[in-house]
Amino acid sequence: MAVRSAMHRAGAAALSQLLQFPVPSSEHRRLPCGCGGEAHYRELRTKAVLTAVGQVQVSRPYYLCPQCRAGQFPADRELDVEATEFSPGVRRMQALVGQQMSFDHGRQQLESLAGLTVTTKAVERTAEAIGANIAEQEQQEMHRAMQLDLPIVIGEPVPILYIEMDGTGVPVVHKETVGRQGKIEGQPAHTREVKLGCVFTQTSWDEKGYPVRDPDSTSYVAAIETAEEFGKRLYVEAWKRDWSRAQKNVVLGDGAEWIWNLAHQHFPGAIQIVDIFHARQHLWELARRLHPNDDAGQKRWMLVHQDLLDHGRIKKFTVALRSIRTENAELADKLRTEADYFHRNALRLRYPKFRRQHLFIGSGVIEAGCKTVIASRLKQSGMFWTVRGANAILALRCCHLNGRFEDYWEARRAA
Ligand SMILES: [Zn+2]
Repeated sequence: MAVRSAMHRAGAAALSQLLQFPVPSSEHRRLPCGCGGEAHYRELRTKAVLTAVGQVQVSRPYYLCPQCRAGQFPADRELDVEATEFSPGVRRMQALVGQQMSFDHGRQQLESLAGLTVTTKAVERTAEAIGANIAEQEQQEMHRAMQLDLPIVIGEPVPILYIEMDGTGVPVVHKETVGRQGKIEGQPAHTREVKLGCVFTQTSWDEKGYPVRDPDSTSYVAAIETAEEFGKRLYVEAWKRDWSRAQKNVVLGDGAEWIWNLAHQHFPGAIQIVDIFHARQHLWELARRLHPNDDAGQKRWMLVHQDLLDHGRIKKFTVALRSIRTENAELADKLRTEADYFHRNALRLRYPKFRRQHLFIGSGVIEAGCKTVIASRLKQSGMFWTVRGANAILALRCCHLNGRFEDYWEARRAA
């Protein structure tokens, strides 16, 4: 570690030497200004920049526009250190730790792994700025998608492409929930819903016929936004994954209405499947209502009715539900709602048919995603997010998990 420190000091000194820009020659003392006027060279100005080898001094020409009084440092643009005291390399590290763990934990990691001392606030600001930049680029991409202007994907078409989506609450600061109804009636909300979507592929199944997900094939999108906005986001991701040329397309989700609305709007023709565990939960709830405080009765009822569900005999099941007579108005209401639910989703509950095609019938991938993508980073104790901050970190986190973080920096360098 002592050697590393010494190398860093030597590196910083050498780098500082390289970052002493000369006074511009007489023909380079005027620059176009954003206002349409011309900025004039004034002087060399020095600023400190924290790099991977520690603090360096950059001395570069400063230009001022006499017309609008705007100043500029062309060298800062070139070095990608405009309006920041951190080099791109350090910002990349801050963003990386910031999407992975709490900002303060990230600060400690930078200190112990890279020997860099920064504040917790700096990690937060940088991670959010990079995340916001990624989110902005995605917005542009979504805009192009709506103009039907996305690049065509080339290569072998995938056999089976899946989309799963789900929603999960993230704790937010008070101002983000003003006027919003909480889960419990009359109680204010303390969370906002993050919509999470994933896309993955399947090429084979195991010897028992169960589907096998292609390793490392899952990519994620996530944001706190309306279903309409989220639909576009997921559509773009699906497009990138060659949705339009897949031999089989599947949308898997729970019973939430927005999920099936999006499926109809953006992914018409896909096989729609309701997560079997979710459907079974509906059954359990019914069993508990029909046989309160009667474990044996609940189990007996489940045995018969889960069998109907698992065998795709939805019609028979809904008829059975509708034929139950009860004096209890609340229970009658529940039975009606549930019968409607199963009737409405009947085509999405054809499990034997899906099984014969070796398809996934449980949405375990998105549920695991809710934990690994969202909860492990955004739902730690003591965390309260602004919508803007959460969306920036979500964009950053998905970019990293999708293996596109390096591409982002490559593109930034090329720009
Ligand atoms: Zn100007």
